[in-house]
Amino acid sequence: MAADLYQAHDYFQMDDLLTDEHKLIRETAREWVKKEMSPIIEEYYEKGSFPKHVIPGMGEIGAFGPYIPEEYGGAGLDQISYGIIMQELERCDSGLRSTSSVQSSLVMYPIWKFGSEEQKQKYLPKLATGEMIGCFGLTEPDFGSNPAGMITNFKDKGDHYLLNGAKMWISNSPFADIAVVWAKNEEGRIHGLIVERGMEGFTTPTTHGKWSLRASDTGELVFDNVKIPKENLLPEKSGLGAPLACLDSARYGIAWGAIGAALSCYDSALRYSKERIQFDRPIGGFQLQQKKLAEMITEITKAQLLTFRLGQLRNVDKATSAQISMAKRNNVDMALKIAREARQIHGAMGITNEFPIMRHMMNLESVITYEGTHDIHLLITGMDVTGLNAFK
Ligand SMILES: Cc1cc2nc3c(=O)[nH]c(=O)nc-3n(C[C@H](O)[C@H](O)[C@H](O)COP(=O)(O)OP(=O)(O)OC[C@H]3O[C@@H](n4cnc5c(N)ncnc54)[C@H](O)[C@@H]3O)c2cc1C
Repeated sequence: MAADLYQAHDYFQMDDLLTDEHKLIRETAREWVKKEMSPIIEEYYEKGSFPKHVIPGMGEIGAFGPYIPEEYGGAGLDQISYGIIMQELERCDSGLRSTSSVQSSLVMYPIWKFGSEEQKQKYLPKLATGEMIGCFGLTEPDFGSNPAGMITNFKDKGDHYLLNGAKMWISNSPFADIAVVWAKNEEGRIHGLIVERGMEGFTTPTTHGKWSLRASDTGELVFDNVKIPKENLLPEKSGLGAPLACLDSARYGIAWGAIGAALSCYDSALRYSKERIQFDRPIGGFQLQQKKLAEMITEITKAQLLTFRLGQLRNVDKATSAQISMAKRNNVDMALKIAREARQIHGAMGITNEFPIMRHMMNLESVITYEGTHDIHLLITGMDVTGLNAFK
């Protein structure tokens, strides 16, 4: 990729709503991305792997569990700060943001909220620095949008549990040190279990052939009679509500992150439209191109306002799952549409890795599917406003 010339866009003076601390966090993350990630992202995307050497740096900028209390190694920040970090990371690449989202919302969050004091002490500080990486196993080969049907199960064997089953499409699984795995007990109740790499019968095959989210490692989790120590069960919450609460936190981060991808595409298209000359004038002077750019910044601004308000609600623990669904669905769809329009503004150049557009577009095809598909979030809003369930 060419030099990172990104400039942020703030059409409705949203910066006035941020504290000095928010701005400092944003600046720190933005500078880190420009220095450490932008120069290497295309190389890792082409290779199809996550650049693991940047993990300690991610820990230093607070990308792992920013809202986890300081006593457990987190930064004790608010939800707006979490969102800002997600936005800056996804401005670079959705895979980078995914690694941070999974670690923060799908691994640290359940241990913090549903774990024992011993589990919090044992895992959270190492997860916060990146010394330890985690993954989250909910999706199964036959149960994606409907995780309640999961087959993965564990049996009580007296002094341990015996875990069997398989998860697929698991971000970070090929190199994660631990997995927070959702499985049913003998009564069919869903519980979270912490499975550690090296446990006998536990393997994590890599998923190959992805055209999307290539700078993020994806794989399976396979459990063949894995003995799980009893102290590895998350004791404080069971039932599908437990993984869904983690997903609320991750989806909130995605809502912010998608704005970052959209801003990156818009910023590149705006600059290109002023530099590219056709018919003796910059293409940005043609009404058709201005329509695209004007609609892009309008949609980005609407998403920024929606998401900031959601952050305020999350800060006081008042955001509903349905509100989070609406924001995730709206923002990812908005970002994908902007990526497609930005690609056209770049003409043929838009398909190359000189610009981040195609990469964002391909990434967003995963983001619009994972953590609840575009359709599923619409059904959640539909059910919320009508009170009627259209899922089955
Ligand atoms: C790159 C990547 C990383 C991922 N990382 C993780 C991870 O870390 N951990 C994890 O647990 N999972 C992860 N996932 C899995 C992801 O969450 C699932 O792919 C997603 O929930 C959808 O499940 P599915 O792919 O099985 O699609 P399906 O559920 O089979 O859906 C297929 C289609 O049917 C539609 N559909 C389903 N049900 C209904 C309905 N009731 N009404 C109308 N339409 C419906 C869907 O909207 C979709 O369009 C990841 C996926 C990807 C692509």
